[in-house]
Amino acid sequence: MNSEITIVWLRNDLRLEDNPALYHANEYAKKNNSQISIIYILENFNCLSTDLGSASKWWLYNSLKKFNENFSNDLIQKNNFDINLFKGDPEKIFSDLIKSFKINGIFWNRRYESKCVERDTKIKSKFKTLNINVQTYNGKVLVEPWNIKGKQNQNLKVFTPYKNSLLENHFIPESLPISKIKYHFKISSSLKLSELNLISNNWMKKFDGVWHVGEKAALTKLEKFISNGIDDYDQDRNFPFKDGTSKLSPHLHFGEISPVKIWNMTCNNQNYEKISNGRKVFLSEIIWREFAVNLMFLYPNLDKINIKENFNNFKWNDDQENFKVWTRGNTGYPIVDAAMKELWDTGWMHNRARMITASFLTKHLLIPWQWGANWFHDTLLDADFASNYASWQWVAGCGADAAPYFRIFNPLTQSSKFDPSGQYIKKYIPELKNLDSKEIHSPSKSSYKSMIVDHKFARERALNTYSLLRKFNS
Ligand SMILES: Cc1cc2nc3c(=O)[nH]c(=O)nc-3n(C[C@H](O)[C@H](O)[C@H](O)COP(=O)(O)OP(=O)(O)OC[C@H]3O[C@@H](n4cnc5c(N)ncnc54)[C@H](O)[C@@H]3O)c2cc1C
Repeated sequence: MNSEITIVWLRNDLRLEDNPALYHANEYAKKNNSQISIIYILENFNCLSTDLGSASKWWLYNSLKKFNENFSNDLIQKNNFDINLFKGDPEKIFSDLIKSFKINGIFWNRRYESKCVERDTKIKSKFKTLNINVQTYNGKVLVEPWNIKGKQNQNLKVFTPYKNSLLENHFIPESLPISKIKYHFKISSSLKLSELNLISNNWMKKFDGVWHVGEKAALTKLEKFISNGIDDYDQDRNFPFKDGTSKLSPHLHFGEISPVKIWNMTCNNQNYEKISNGRKVFLSEIIWREFAVNLMFLYPNLDKINIKENFNNFKWNDDQENFKVWTRGNTGYPIVDAAMKELWDTGWMHNRARMITASFLTKHLLIPWQWGANWFHDTLLDADFASNYASWQWVAGCGADAAPYFRIFNPLTQSSKFDPSGQYIKKYIPELKNLDSKEIHSPSKSSYKSMIVDHKFARERALNTYSLLRKFNS
């Protein structure tokens, strides 16, 4: 082994298996007889305009810990095994490392946030001028956004053609094996995990023991879901009281498991056409995740600016008081309140409940979608820039391929349809446990708090506000 170092820059890809950057760096290091040095940087340069949310910090802390444990267990030479942690500006950190060590290569998996792309390109060209081998890979999506186009080579902004193009024109590769690293180089100036200061408040600590973080936990979860649940996914996935979805979202967000691995395990060597409908619908949701990345790529300011420009004149209601009531789950609508409490208590919320609460905030309370999205960003363990902001815009009506604004969810109908016996509501609002399956959806004033707004009034107000927008734009 020589004194050269091959760097693997980990980002949202905290896994050993099917990690292209890690795999190819390892092959390169073997060929060149160099040591691998794995680096994670908690960045102060903000690629996104929003900071890492509180719940995400908890997950990241635990995910780095688990990655390190797995990595050191798998390492062939059991010394210097801790991965290198840094905090700050990657450009500066790499510049300092180049001065101190003989770096022969740097490998990373690509990100698609526009500011990240810009920054990564800068780092890449700097390394290249120094004759350092820079290699980047797709480790996040099935197919990278610029590779999916319509028949006229146009960008696709509607989900179904996007999905069809992915299915018809692209081949999903085999997953790469676990990378067995022989020598790891520990950089003495790297930080301890605790020095990243990720765990900063008591609220986060409630997730300890509730969620199992890391690559192994993700794989176990997927295996269980495939042997029990996936084939009924199409039937069960809309009911928040059922355990009908995979709960893989935080694992996917932090890259503890790749979508390629999920795809291959779901198809289990069968042709896509032959798998059960449950599996197809599940893979379709994985493609929704891809579609959100595509939207983020096409609309870099997805978190702030309406995709549908006509919404720029919408008269939102900047009501801090009502917003607080919504965040705390005190609206008086049991299904909305249960969902907001699920989020607060567990750091996760069922997709149907996300749609109901987001619709309630933007249509019943007319509060800007960005407020709700930022709240989700802070409190969701799976907070994902692309999926979160694209979904909020979709629900609010201003997103690409969005549900039309005038389709306003009735929270009471949603409640009786998707939580008929009130099991979900009772789980998160135990004070309602004695109500019957009729009263639970719309309890009398004597058994629960009064509703923040009357549904009929709110619906008409929302439609009027929307019609003003249409007049304004015509
Ligand atoms: C207002 C709102 C905000 C959302 N914010 C996020 C977010 O921050 N992060 C996030 O990962 N998902 C978000 N979603 C999408 C979806 O609610 C979650 O991905 C899903 O509930 C996660 O649970 P699961 O892993 O059990 O999903 P499953 O039903 O098991 O689906 C499997 C995977 O497919 C992906 N997926 C499923 N539905 C969607 C979708 N509609 N859009 C994009 N990807 C999807 C996720 O990666 C998910 O883990 C949001 C949806 C809404 C309506």
